[in-house]
Amino acid sequence: MNDYQNCAYNKHIECTVSQCQYHSACDNYCTLDKIKVTTHEANPTMCQCTDCSSFIAKA
Ligand code: SF4
Repeated sequence: MNDYQNCAYNKHIECTVSQCQYHSACDNYCTLDKIKVTTHEANPTMCQCTDCSSFIAKA
């Protein structure tokens, strides 16, 4: 995927994780059609307990 294709982001998924290979090169959005949100806690109680499981680090 080149930078031009990365500009076709999903306006319904805002994201500021620019280290992810699915992050838009043009704005703070995700380029995927959908993502999976999970938790690393047994009993999540705040936003910080959740994770984007679709994250893949840039090569
Ligand atoms: S996959 Fe998750 S972390 Fe990566 S850009 Fe999309 S929303 Fe952000």
